[in-house]
Amino acid sequence: MCSTIMATETAQPRPQARKPYLLGSIDAFQEVVSTAVILPKEDGVISVSEDRTIRVWLKRDSGQYWPSVFHTMPSTCSCMSFNPETRRLSVGMDTGSICEFILFEDYNKMIPARTYQAHQGRVSVVLFVLEMEWLLSTGQDKNLTWHCSESGQQLGTYRTMAFVSGLQFDIETRHAFVGDQSGQVTILKLEQDSCSLVTTFKGHTGNVTALCWDPVQRVLFSGSSDHSIIMWDIGGRKGTAIELQGHKKNSLPPARVNDKVQGLCYASHTRQLISCSSDGGIVIWNMDVTRQETPEWLDSDSCQKCEQPFFWNFKQMWDSKKIGFRQHHCRKCGQALCGKCSSKRSTIPLMGFEFEVRVCDVCHESITDEDRAPTATFHDSKHSIVYMHYEPTTGSLLTSGTDKVIKIWDMTPVVA
Ligand SMILES: [Zn+2]
Ligand SMILES: [Zn+2]
Repeated sequence: MCSTIMATETAQPRPQARKPYLLGSIDAFQEVVSTAVILPKEDGVISVSEDRTIRVWLKRDSGQYWPSVFHTMPSTCSCMSFNPETRRLSVGMDTGSICEFILFEDYNKMIPARTYQAHQGRVSVVLFVLEMEWLLSTGQDKNLTWHCSESGQQLGTYRTMAFVSGLQFDIETRHAFVGDQSGQVTILKLEQDSCSLVTTFKGHTGNVTALCWDPVQRVLFSGSSDHSIIMWDIGGRKGTAIELQGHKKNSLPPARVNDKVQGLCYASHTRQLISCSSDGGIVIWNMDVTRQETPEWLDSDSCQKCEQPFFWNFKQMWDSKKIGFRQHHCRKCGQALCGKCSSKRSTIPLMGFEFEVRVCDVCHESITDEDRAPTATFHDSKHSIVYMHYEPTTGSLLTSGTDKVIKIWDMTPVVA
């Protein structure tokens, strides 16, 4: 019975990732758009910008986006959260307050609902959870706070290690995932008026810049300024953490030194992870592939293949009158090797390495052409991305860039 189902599934055509197709762009901003979302039912966009405006854009018959709402705030808008069911828009401000609006059904008007004095200093992330009637937020003051969206009362607060740049929430278990600039992800269990620290994930060598939670598979994705993405498999219960390396360290300094991962979205119906970086790159990862964890790097005083001493191994260097070598590591087996024994390069897509990395001669032999088949596709948005939003109902993606432009892309996969 089970095998029959499996066979039918494999026989079905696989959706193929296609090049994102540019549907339209909006370029009427004075400053960078900090957050923007695609409306699920209308052909429209809500934007909040550093230029202090909140705007709702509807696509007209001409194909152009025209503002149906244009509201200027007293200070810079730093982030927002939009709930389509209640049409509630929560806008985080530079001043630390969160201003809430309710949009009309036709998206031609909005009325102010409530203001929360949530933080001291810029609000970094705001997240409205309808199921809990909670408004979660983080700010420059390094506090995570949650308010009751019904009464407006502050329910609780938690002091984070560093400035928070990513926040996700699991409704079922009431866990909050908090990614910060120290590079760690803190997992908190939130109660009505208190919270407890569950655990912390440490895997990045740079700031955590983006978080994405898939509640179905119970997988958390974290993106970082270290160019990597880590997939933390919580549902698997084995502590598996898979690294995804597809955003290259830019080799062209100094103009584009800041090419960190900027956004992560998971498209559950096509099982694709979409990631973007500030160098303009959009990577679409096929998450149907089973990937392996990268090995721990082994430590040795000499090459584990040819036994040449490494440069800090003075005794052996002196005893055998040898020159000390630099230590390298094979990305596939993790062995400590000299440069000569690890001169080969290969992609290892099944370990998340979509670009060539150092491997030893033995591992190089063992990697077949089939193993080298890419499991991700690479695209250029042609602007330096600061924010990304994916709308699953329409299959469209929004990118906001440092060029003060919003681009809307069609990401619908082509069925082969
Ligand atoms: Zn060697
Ligand atoms: Zn190896």
